[in-house]
Amino acid sequence: MTGALRARGSRPGAPPPGIREEEWRDWRWQMRHRIRSAEALRAWIDPHEDELRAIEALSQRFHFVITPYYASLMDPDDPECPIRRQVVPRLAELHDPLGEPDPLREVEHSPVKNVIRVYPDRIAFCVNNECALYCRFCLRKRMVGEPSWSMRRRELEEALGWIETTPEIRDVLLTGGDPLVFTDDRLDWLLGRLRRIPHVEIVRLGTRLPVTLPFRVTEGLCRMLERHHPLWLNTHFNHPRELTPEAAEAVDRLSRAGIPVGNQSVLLRGINDDVHTMRALCEGLVRMRVRPYYCYQAQLLEGTAHFRVPVERGIELFHALRGRTSGFAIPRYVLDTPGGKVPLEYPYLRGREGDRVVVETWDGSLWREPNPLD
Ligand code: SF4
Repeated sequence: MTGALRARGSRPGAPPPGIREEEWRDWRWQMRHRIRSAEALRAWIDPHEDELRAIEALSQRFHFVITPYYASLMDPDDPECPIRRQVVPRLAELHDPLGEPDPLREVEHSPVKNVIRVYPDRIAFCVNNECALYCRFCLRKRMVGEPSWSMRRRELEEALGWIETTPEIRDVLLTGGDPLVFTDDRLDWLLGRLRRIPHVEIVRLGTRLPVTLPFRVTEGLCRMLERHHPLWLNTHFNHPRELTPEAAEAVDRLSRAGIPVGNQSVLLRGINDDVHTMRALCEGLVRMRVRPYYCYQAQLLEGTAHFRVPVERGIELFHALRGRTSGFAIPRYVLDTPGGKVPLEYPYLRGREGDRVVVETWDGSLWREPNPLD
C-alpha cells in the first residue's frame, strides 16, 4: 500500500483509485491487505503524534489491525474522527487505574473452555479468537488474536460435547472474536453440529463484520446460513458514519435470507454520547431494517477510561430520545455485570397515589392511571 491510497476525493467505503472494484469487494483481499503498522496507516490518514506514539507503546498489549474498508471511513485529517478513535490506539489507553482484563468475570463463568454461562438456558460460545479488525474498547481484549484452526477445532469439539450433555441450553450465541471470519465451510460444519443437538432451539450470531468488512456477507454465505434457521444476528454499529451503502447491502442480504438483524452498540465518549449522534445512528439503523437492540454502558475494561461516560448521562441521553423518535428505534441501555445485564432506565414510574399509579410521560407531564389494589 502506498500513500496514493489515501484518496481524499473517494467516497468513504468505495475503493480508492488504483484498486479494482472486484478486489475491494473481495473479503479475502480485504483480510490480506489489513493495516497493521503506522507506516501502512499513513496510506489512509495523517496520523497524529499521539496516535503514532500509542501504536508503538501499545504494540505488545493489544493488536492494531484495521481493514482497508474501515480505514476508508476514517477522516484523514481529524484525530477525533469517531471511526479513527474506535480502532487507532491513543496514549490515553495507558492511563486507566480502574480497568480490569476481565470485568465480567467471564473466565469464572466458563464451565468448559470457550463457553460463558451466566444464565441457566443460554450461553455465549466463543468460537473464534479472530476479528477483521480490533476495536480499542473490545471486551475480549484478553483473548482476541489469531489462532490456528486445528487447535480451535479440538477445543470446539469439547465445547460442543458440553452443550450436548447440558439439556437446559436452548439458546447459543456464537461470538468470539467474530464467527463470520470463519470460512463458509467451517461455519456450515459448526452450525450443522449445533443443529443436530435437539435441545438447542435457536442460534444467534454476534458479528461486527457487517460494519467492518461488509463484503464478507456474500450471497453464498447467506444461502448457507438460511439452511440453519432459526438464526438471529446481532451486529455492532456505533456511529452513523458506519451506515454506508456497502453495510446496507450486507444487512439487506441477511434480511432477505430471513435472518432478523439487531444492533448492539457501546456508549463511547466523544463517539456517540450525544443525542444528535445517537438519534442519527438509531434512525439510520431502522432505515436499514436493523433493530437497535442494546446500547451497553462501557465496561471497566483495561485501557478504556477515556471512552467511559457516567451512567447518569447515559440515562439522560436515552430519556431525551423517548417521544422524539419511534419507540423501536431506541435501544435498551444496559449495564452488563458478572451477574447478567441490568437495564438502566429513567424512572418513568413515579409511585402510587391511592388507587392510581403516577407515571411521567415523554414530555415531563404526569399522568395518573387507575390501578387496581392487589
Ligand atoms: S469486533 Fe467485537 S470481538 Fe472483535 S475486536 Fe471488535 S469488539 Fe472485540
